[in-house]
Amino acid sequence: EVIAPTNVDGDRYGVSLKNGVVEVPPGYQEAYDEYIQGGWNGLGFKPEFGGQGLPAIIALPVNEIMMAANFSWSHLALLSQAAIRAMEIHANDELKNLYLPKMVSGKFSGTMVLTEPQAGSDLAALNTTAEPEEQHYKITGQKIFITWGDHELTDNIIHMVLARLPDAPEGVKGISLFLVPKYLVNADGSLGKRNRVETVSLEHKLGIHGCATCVMNYDAAEGYLVGQPNQGLACMFTMMNDARIGVGNESVAIAERSYQQALAYAKDRIQGTTHDGGKRVSIIHHPDVRRMLLTMKSQIEVMRAMVYSTAAELDYSRKSESTEDQKRHGDRVDLMTPIVKGWCSEVCQELTSIGLQIHGGMGYIEETGAAQHFRDARITTIYEGTTGIQANDLVGRKILKDKGLALQTLLQDIELTISELDTSHSIIAQIEDELSESIETVRASLNYLMNHYQDDQHLAGAVSYNFLMMLGTLTAGWQAARSAQIAVQQIQSGASDGEFYESKLVSCQFFAEQILPKVHAYGKSIRTGSAATMALSEDQF
Ligand SMILES: Cc1cc2nc3c(=O)[nH]c(=O)nc-3n(C[C@H](O)[C@H](O)[C@H](O)COP(=O)(O)OP(=O)(O)OC[C@H]3O[C@@H](n4cnc5c(N)ncnc54)[C@H](O)[C@@H]3O)c2cc1C
Repeated sequence: EVIAPTNVDGDRYGVSLKNGVVEVPPGYQEAYDEYIQGGWNGLGFKPEFGGQGLPAIIALPVNEIMMAANFSWSHLALLSQAAIRAMEIHANDELKNLYLPKMVSGKFSGTMVLTEPQAGSDLAALNTTAEPEEQHYKITGQKIFITWGDHELTDNIIHMVLARLPDAPEGVKGISLFLVPKYLVNADGSLGKRNRVETVSLEHKLGIHGCATCVMNYDAAEGYLVGQPNQGLACMFTMMNDARIGVGNESVAIAERSYQQALAYAKDRIQGTTHDGGKRVSIIHHPDVRRMLLTMKSQIEVMRAMVYSTAAELDYSRKSESTEDQKRHGDRVDLMTPIVKGWCSEVCQELTSIGLQIHGGMGYIEETGAAQHFRDARITTIYEGTTGIQANDLVGRKILKDKGLALQTLLQDIELTISELDTSHSIIAQIEDELSESIETVRASLNYLMNHYQDDQHLAGAVSYNFLMMLGTLTAGWQAARSAQIAVQQIQSGASDGEFYESKLVSCQFFAEQILPKVHAYGKSIRTGSAATMALSEDQF
């Protein structure tokens, strides 16, 4: 009622920079004011700074609903949440007390300022500088692609900027994190003069037109160190899991909106007749349209289950009583994060494309809005680390570094679920079969990787994408098995929402039959090694 109506105008009118001021689409300010008045911004944050202290498993679903309503607009809250998280963990008490209450309430928004023209995936190349001066630092450099880097929706904007101190070591070990406000804040919390931060221009983008993506210039802007010197990237990494799981959640949100729209169209659009040439029917009666709808529905549901269960692991890693349990859950989060981010965002591309396809020609026409979801979704595989970077992280840091131990533990947990399935039900038996075969394929692929990566220096890089997609599909299949088991139990116990569970069961069956077998294709590709990938010289491309 409040956010969703701003979505189409946000896409159509977009944002613009006029006389140094970022102008936003109609309705954005009203929606934001209502959002912060409702206390939604502080759900997951510490009560001492005005938050509600709720776990990620509550905060994430709320974000999903908000993002499905208007993805561009929601980025303002999402980036603020990331900045708050970094502050909560790393800032000193003085900075926390001065900034966090207003950031948590939403009166100030936040940004994450990493990227420079020569430093994207490779932050080692970053060269924004920080010169010490009295109690603060002078930050100088140009940053690009900064989400909601400027606007008038909040009283102030708090930039979390990566920069180098004068004596910093080369590469990623010499990067520090600084808080740079748009307006300086006095000791009593009132706003002081404008800081030397300027928006040079706004990027013109394929999608998320209603979101300001800024080129920012920091010209000896006043900034304050957050965390220890030269530990900036480590500080960023402590909130990276949240942010990357958050992008998995974004993928669920856009795919869901695309699905709801495609479903409504499929029920409404009359085209063709029943298979025996009888009466004219809506397109949802055609088997191929049903295939497309179920390809969307079944994958959205397992994506959501994957995101939420990883969010629960995140909560356990923070709130479990013993350090042993915290570590166990933390290890699972570390392994799952690149899978959740990489797989969900890649699948989201396919799903929003299918959402458009279900509309036929009208999907290609902007007025239906199906194309907007397709365009908006495209960013999810790029920011917060591209799929290639997620895949490197998964295979390099999360699998090879611990000799596949965390992955073996995950496979054992999936096998435990399999052993508990009620295979007297034919659909559960079918899912069990497919999942067990998939685990064998993953084990064979893991063995291949472990046995060959030292002889073949390109192997890890060449197979990492397929490895990520294989594990994404497998772990989604795991969620399908768990969901199907619960659905059967609910149906058998005569649950009042039986229709929901019947639909869930079919969705899981469809996933096991139509999507899960992709594990074998990914596995087969992995086991061919890197030879063909690396065979051509640059000139031969
Ligand atoms: C709309 C939008 C919003 C953004 N918001 C923000 C923001 O708020 N703050 C911020 O700091 N940044 C932001 N970014 C920047 C974003 O995080 C980067 O674009 C992203 O990390 C990729 O960096 P790059 O564009 O330099 O691509 P590159 O690093 O040049 O990558 C190009 C290609 O090479 C591949 N590649 C690069 N290195 C490797 C490698 N080692 N191994 C395998 N493949 C590799 C990549 O996967 C990619 O396919 C945003 C970008 C966009 C488009």
